[in-house]
Amino acid sequence: MKAKIEKSGCIGCGLCTDICPVVFSMSKNAYAKVNVDIIPTDELDAVNEAIESCPASVITVEEE
Ligand code: SF4
Repeated sequence: MKAKIEKSGCIGCGLCTDICPVVFSMSKNAYAKVNVDIIPTDELDAVNEAIESCPASVITVEEE
């Protein structure tokens, strides 16, 4: 699975990076970015939590 962030809607709150810092980090322009090409299996639960917690609902996952 791959994670995607629709950057134009990201409000830069940093929640996703707090929940799953392996997969998400903040870029210099204050938007979140995805660190990994493929989500490690043991991070999938945290990514799902980030999806549910994102106030802007801009995180999605897709099949590889
Ligand atoms: S939780 Fe959502 S709005 Fe907040 S930084 Fe992450 S992607 Fe952006």
